[in-house]
Amino acid sequence: MRVLKFGGTSVGSAQRIKNVAELISKRGKNIIVLSAMSGTTNTLVEISDYLYKKNTDGAKETINNLEKHYKDTVDELFSDSNFKDDAVKEIKACFNYIRSFTKDIFTLFEEKEILSQGELMSTAMMNLYLQSKGIKSALLPALEFMRTDKNGEPDSQYIKQKINAQIEKHADADIYITQGYICRNAYGEVDNLQRGGSDYSASLIGAAINAEEIEIWTDIDGMHNNDPRYVPDTTPVHTLHFEEAAELAYFGAKILHPTCILPAKLNNIPVRLLNTMQPEAEGTLIYNSKAGKEIKAIAAKDNITAIKIKSGRMLLAYGFLRKVFEIFESYKTPIDMIATSEVGVSVSIDNEKNLDGILDDLKKFGTVTVDHDMVIICVVGDLEWKNCGFESKVLQALTDIPVRMISYGGSNYNISILVKREDKVRALNKLSDYLFKNKA
Ligand code: ASP
Ligand code: MG
Repeated sequence: MRVLKFGGTSVGSAQRIKNVAELISKRGKNIIVLSAMSGTTNTLVEISDYLYKKNTDGAKETINNLEKHYKDTVDELFSDSNFKDDAVKEIKACFNYIRSFTKDIFTLFEEKEILSQGELMSTAMMNLYLQSKGIKSALLPALEFMRTDKNGEPDSQYIKQKINAQIEKHADADIYITQGYICRNAYGEVDNLQRGGSDYSASLIGAAINAEEIEIWTDIDGMHNNDPRYVPDTTPVHTLHFEEAAELAYFGAKILHPTCILPAKLNNIPVRLLNTMQPEAEGTLIYNSKAGKEIKAIAAKDNITAIKIKSGRMLLAYGFLRKVFEIFESYKTPIDMIATSEVGVSVSIDNEKNLDGILDDLKKFGTVTVDHDMVIICVVGDLEWKNCGFESKVLQALTDIPVRMISYGGSNYNISILVKREDKVRALNKLSDYLFKNKA
């Protein structure tokens, strides 16, 4: 069995829901994880915001507008009047529930109930629509199996036991539909896996049922080898190691967040990124094996600040780096890149919130200089140090671009280069020419 997850845009209109229904009905007995229709979760957040601010009129108006959108969608989706009536009832019940929170005190607890309605509605519509087409679809309620523990971490044992019991209960179904994003916490209250969490749901479900593969369906044809906004003729990367995907995700590529696919990685379940608008495209397969000796992709991360601490005291001293790192730790500011020499160290951060305090404290240890508005360019691939030539190719591509820092050897998968923002697009294109188009 596979897990197929469809994001908000993929189920964003009646027509899209029909397209997804057709696609999944041809794929056999799988578990389908759905997000809320696009825009819904944002609107539910907005409604909650009005309620926190005790603006009941604002909340009601927003609820009415959203309800109208759902009524129109149901109208367009169903031709069979019995199924349409059922769908109208389901949607109405959700909106009445949302409205019930306009009458009383409003806290985080009520907000989470409201936020859960988007996925409950998209799955109810899909389930009924499939049934209206004669498909034996069964709804697996996520609130009955997806649970977090007291630390807010997914409770894998519980999830595994409960979802498998649910599947068994509907053993004769043709297809299973469930909600992404929503769950219960350790106290049984409705909760969620954070915004964008339905990818995480898919990965957790994949691990719980030991799926053959997890498919993440979005509106792009997989992960591209460079940023299509700045570089012409980028192409999809067909395979990535989980570690490569993690590097790319962190360094700004529009790809799944690494924590989302951790359960898949740990259980060795391949994750495939596919495009709902172009289902025949190959997409990107993320798995645990290395394709070998190849540079896969380039990504860039903006708004980076580089800080250099130079000190005679660092020479032959131990404990210097620890003191420097402790300052960043005390300001809860993560460090991205590091480069060291005998007399100094440069680090990069992506958040200037506590910069003044950090600089004040660092000045106790040496001379400090700062470069703002920098960009990390990250080159990802099989960069095992014993493979020759990849690092020199990367540097060759950048011969006429000033490079502030280089980091290589931290993992087997990445070289990071820090450049000025104004050089970013040129650097991305030069790297693309050298590494992918052989235009040295
Ligand atoms: N609907 C939720 C959100 O918009 C979860 C998701 O789509 O992944 O954040
Ligand atoms: Mg998403």
